Amino acid sequence: MLIETARDFARNELLPLDRKWDEDESTVEEILPTLGEMGLMNLTLPEELNGVGCSFGTYFAILHEIAASSPSTAVTISVHSMVGKILHECLAEPLRTEVLSSWGDPASFAAFALTEADAGSDARAARVEAVEVDGGLKINGEKMWITNGLTSRWFLTLVRLRDVPDNGSLCAVLIDGNDRGVERTKIHGKMGIRGSETAVIHFADTFVPEDHIVGQRGRGMWVFTTTLNEGRIGIASQSSGIAEACLSEMSSYVCERKQFGRPIGTFQAVARMVADSAVELEAAKALIWQAAEKVDAGCPSRSASSMAKLYASEAANRIAYRAVQAHGGTGYVRECRVEQLYRDARVTTIYEGTSEIQRLLIARELGEAS
Ligand SMILES: Cc1cc2nc3c(=O)[nH]c(=O)nc-3n(C[C@H](O)[C@H](O)[C@H](O)COP(=O)(O)OP(=O)(O)OC[C@H]3O[C@@H](n4cnc5c(N)ncnc54)[C@H](O)[C@@H]3O)c2cc1C
Repeated sequence: MLIETARDFARNELLPLDRKWDEDESTVEEILPTLGEMGLMNLTLPEELNGVGCSFGTYFAILHEIAASSPSTAVTISVHSMVGKILHECLAEPLRTEVLSSWGDPASFAAFALTEADAGSDARAARVEAVEVDGGLKINGEKMWITNGLTSRWFLTLVRLRDVPDNGSLCAVLIDGNDRGVERTKIHGKMGIRGSETAVIHFADTFVPEDHIVGQRGRGMWVFTTTLNEGRIGIASQSSGIAEACLSEMSSYVCERKQFGRPIGTFQAVARMVADSAVELEAAKALIWQAAEKVDAGCPSRSASSMAKLYASEAANRIAYRAVQAHGGTGYVRECRVEQLYRDARVTTIYEGTSEIQRLLIARELGEAS
């Protein structure tokens, strides 16, 4: 029922908004209250924290449905939810209940701040600095490319403790965006997912109280890699949603469009594009389902989530390419939905770890196991 409700809402409400956001570069901000009221911002949190308490399998299926109509909304929900999950696991009480019981509220909107100008794939090179002060830490530095960064209340942020040896210096902290010293600058001109907020976040002497340290001091990378395990399945679901929308547009177009006196879908070369896309989409969904089952079972999902993310994001790009190709010139203009989907798909092989990094992670885990 949840999945069907999400699908109907996405098709009826989100799709036209997503087209508008793409056109004028406005953002999902306007829909956050509705997402909150529908329970879409706290799907996996338990009911005692006012969450929906649904399984990860259901959650990823919902993200897929949302992404098929609005890839920008899907990544917004995915990032907010993955921060909620790690806070639920790692934040100490009473702050945990205080922060998470209003997680569905736009005033609790969250972002994941790992990347810096000189620390992308190599996230361990993070330089945003934390200095010990009375009662907590003082933070200085800048994070780049932060999804949800324009209106977020909370920033799960990786910082480096000054004067601590390298191996124990990285720390995850929860920064309150309402605090003094947090400055946000919108990144304009993105190729796709233009409705998703992307920002540079500058911290200037921002105070973080001691109880806002997430997990153990010095284990910041563990907090972030654990968060990314679920986040990557979210991006895989976003990718499969984009792929589903491309396939749907492509298969109806090739039945309607006639050349040489017959529907183009009856030509083998075009039929192959449709068939290959359908197979790849199903394979992506199967990998996502496999990874989601591991999360639901509480099993380590590192390699499974990398495989799902790698395959689904690359498949989405191939399928989007074919969808444009099957539309011919019609697919090359803004009015045609596949033109936007093609641009939206592109980022999925880049964020939350590029395809190259996913391959390294998968190969490394195989190496460790052998
Ligand atoms: C729209 C958008 C939203 C984003 N949202 C967030 C967010 O919410 N939070 C956040 O923290 N970050 C976010 N990011 C940042 C994103 O995760 C990084 O862009 C990504 O991890 C790659 O880092 P980079 O851009 O610095 O590229 P680089 O790390 O400079 O990589 C450039 C190229 O080199 C390759 N490369 C690098 N190292 C290796 C290696 N060891 N082996 C093989 N190839 C390698 C990469 O695969 C890539 O092809 C976002 C990015 C975008 C574009």
